[in-house]
Amino acid sequence: MTFTSTNPATGETLGEYPAHPPAQIEAKLARAADTATRWRRTPIAERAAMVARLAELLDAEKDRLGRMMTLEMGKPVRAAVEEAAKCATACRYYAEHGPRFMADEPVPDPDHRSFIAYDPLGVVLAVMPWNFPFWQAIRFMAPAFVAGNVGLLKHASNVPQCAMELEALVRRAGAPEGVFQTLLIPSDAVAGVLADPRVAAATLTGSEGAGSSVASIAGKQLKKTVLELGGSDPFIVMPSADLDRAIETAVRARTINNGQSCIAAKRFIVHTDVYDRFLDGFAAGMRALKVGDPLDPSTQLGPLATAKLADELEAQVRASVEAGARVVCGGTRDRPGTAWFPATVLADIPERAPAFRDELFGPVGCVFRARDAADAIRLANATRFGLGASVWTTVAEEQEHFARAIDSGTVFVNDMVVSDPRFPFGGVKASGYGRELSAVGMREFTNVKTVRIRTAGGSHGGRTE
Ligand code: NAP
Repeated sequence: MTFTSTNPATGETLGEYPAHPPAQIEAKLARAADTATRWRRTPIAERAAMVARLAELLDAEKDRLGRMMTLEMGKPVRAAVEEAAKCATACRYYAEHGPRFMADEPVPDPDHRSFIAYDPLGVVLAVMPWNFPFWQAIRFMAPAFVAGNVGLLKHASNVPQCAMELEALVRRAGAPEGVFQTLLIPSDAVAGVLADPRVAAATLTGSEGAGSSVASIAGKQLKKTVLELGGSDPFIVMPSADLDRAIETAVRARTINNGQSCIAAKRFIVHTDVYDRFLDGFAAGMRALKVGDPLDPSTQLGPLATAKLADELEAQVRASVEAGARVVCGGTRDRPGTAWFPATVLADIPERAPAFRDELFGPVGCVFRARDAADAIRLANATRFGLGASVWTTVAEEQEHFARAIDSGTVFVNDMVVSDPRFPFGGVKASGYGRELSAVGMREFTNVKTVRIRTAGGSHGGRTE
């Protein structure tokens, strides 16, 4: 089997890469396990220094890396370069703060010296998607390396160049061989790797189906998993909102990464008092986007990552229209069979439509009318997902009310949802479980160990838990 790197903007084949044969996978597993025993004993300052050097490389080479992402999966090059720079920021964040997050935490305890220690788990398998081919991997890698874990990456099949480049960068940052290795394997080979006793845990970012499959295998083996899955994030607009800013942000939040972001705003739930003005402005903003060559720095909307994804999105839009949804703009491809899909706005969407129930992974904004705040919250929570939410209101009581009432891992008020190394990132319900980023994310792949050392003169008995 081979992995093909294809430029989705043109359909041109960029390269073919043979899958790693079983003997090579075995060698990589053995190397990872061997390195893990030494890497965990490497002083944390040295591990952090390696991650800091990785930040320097990512920053210094962000233009080259951005171009690589754009060519391989089609995101506008300006965003791709920003992605590489954001990876550098995350590396620097963990290089600086990671040692503190991993430090022993003393617990006041009479007659004992007691503390909580954070030990690495060992070899962690990362199964990652193509949409942020560097960021998704780095946000796992940076904290994992500083914590003392080693990583194996099974990246999405359409981004083999990015996958191999990540391994090369880590080596150039001075990591010992085996700290990070890319496995060029198809998804049906993940089960075998995950079941291997040398693999301690897994993290997966991707679709519900992939998450469920990996979680079942890991569950059978009693291995820890973190799952970052899909989203159908609400973007609620109340009458007090700064409507111009809300509309401008709505267009950006829906079309970031050509609409292929788990935390892109997908359902625009608008109070009836401002509904018509919002819908007109939002559709105008979507129509006005500059569509074109993703390598052109002025392009705002490029192709989807593959022609297959555009086929799937078109089918979801068609089924939604058949169910009664109204196309306000876009909706049909003028270049069928390619990865290009137009900026689209749907309104009057009935509950039975895929646009109501499912994640639409592309530049399709779905606008809903809400009677009042309670109706907006009902609609926001009427989804099996719970990743992020954005709420637009200047009424102070409403701001906190919405933030607490929405079932999601993140709520932003008067801003679009973004990930940030300082804050935990993850979801509830079918959006997954566990967290990445911040100290919370870093500790996911650690053994949170309780240590109680009875000191001389301490009495025995009494404390039973
Ligand atoms: P995907 O098809 O689930 O693929 C993600 C990764 O999982 C790829 O490496 C894929 O490998 C692998 N995979 C797929 N099925 C598998 C299985 N049964 N067993 C083991 N591995 C499997 O998702 P995608 O289309 O690339 O990404 C889009 C989805 O990811 C969306 O739902 C999006 O919302 C979600 N996402 C979530 C977050 C988050 O942080 N919550 C971030 C980004 C994206 P192959 O490529 O070889 O199939």
